Amino acid sequence: MKTIDDFNFEGKKALIRVDFNVPLDADFNVTDTSRIDAAKPTILKILEDGGSCVLMSHLGRPKGKANPDMSLSHIVEKVSEIIGVEVHFVEDCVGEKVDEAVSGLQEGEVLLLENLRFHAEEEAGDKAFAEALSKNGDIYVNDAFGTAHRAHASTTIVADFFPEKKCFGYLLANEIKAIEKVMQTGEKPVTAILGGAKVSSKITIIENILDKIDHLIIGGGMTYTFVKAQDGKVGDSICEDDKMDLALEILKKAEAKGVSVHLPVDVIAADDFSNDANTQMVAVDEIPDGWQGLDAGPQTLENFKKVILESKTILWNGPVGVFEMENFSKGTIAIGNFVTEATENGAFSLVGGGDSVAAVKQFGFEDKVSYVSTGGGAMLESLEGKTLPGIAAIM
Ligand code: AMP
Repeated sequence: MKTIDDFNFEGKKALIRVDFNVPLDADFNVTDTSRIDAAKPTILKILEDGGSCVLMSHLGRPKGKANPDMSLSHIVEKVSEIIGVEVHFVEDCVGEKVDEAVSGLQEGEVLLLENLRFHAEEEAGDKAFAEALSKNGDIYVNDAFGTAHRAHASTTIVADFFPEKKCFGYLLANEIKAIEKVMQTGEKPVTAILGGAKVSSKITIIENILDKIDHLIIGGGMTYTFVKAQDGKVGDSICEDDKMDLALEILKKAEAKGVSVHLPVDVIAADDFSNDANTQMVAVDEIPDGWQGLDAGPQTLENFKKVILESKTILWNGPVGVFEMENFSKGTIAIGNFVTEATENGAFSLVGGGDSVAAVKQFGFEDKVSYVSTGGGAMLESLEGKTLPGIAAIM
């Protein structure tokens, strides 16, 4: 795996695919800078070597047409402020103006190109467009994990034009290392905590990780498909009846592979999908009609705690309750505390994919776990065992 540490960028122009797809408010102010912060170490290393940086990214979904609301010009000032170097901007990502700006770029300077997705060729993975992009640098650096699962021109195809001179930035390299630590080299016992709404969206992940883990904790909305499949009463809880056979199959496979599966035993049930609903604590398989399980109960959390604290490697994907509603967020917060404690005791913990990242940020666990992934879909596909095109293009 080649990273930017394998190159000396002195006198070189690095063409860096970053993920600056940041949220903007109505006045085009950046409301969350984490993606820019995350790219900073890579940019600084290249500048410190004596190189220059040409940054390319997408922003929003302009669907192949120029759209001033999604211009990356809105973030130039913020990027300058975070990197500590004045960032130049050019109103396109290919063409004459860009050639000029790139050839005029001096050591220590940074140039940001306009939104790649103003060109339909970007998402189409167009070869000629990728070749035009490749003229913008001497060495290609991919540091955008969030789009590594897309075979777009700037994330994948462009790498073909840098047969020897391509590598990962620090962010992408760290994502790859974190996934490897869980999926390949994790110290045992390895535990996966899977929550979220539906079995159907997690099924491929479960099937892929059964060979790699010792414990599988299942929580959240997924629970009820497993419980009903074993003849439990789930009331009005979210349940995928057409996935019940699959749930039973997973339990069988897990047993055959020696994986201990831990399901909730008690839940907080509500008479409405609302924060103000009436609640009662019930056994997971005795939920009355008209009630739905929305969070993990105390005995469940006690059981999960024991497993988590004995683990040396932890993967957490998906909340164990409807954490967006305060009254059903306590289970997810408790899991965050257990994972924190295990991490303090020396375990490696990776949080990734979708809503668990939002939950971890919202409840302040971001700096208390070993690694929080920056890629939603890209992390899910990695956990499903897929080789991401953006990563394969550099390997
Ligand atoms: P995912 O993106 O698959 O991780 O799913 C996250 C969503 O699952 C969150 O929006 C949660 O509110 C939701 N969720 C978690 N537990 C439940 C539950 N018991 N019933 C309904 N939705 C749930």
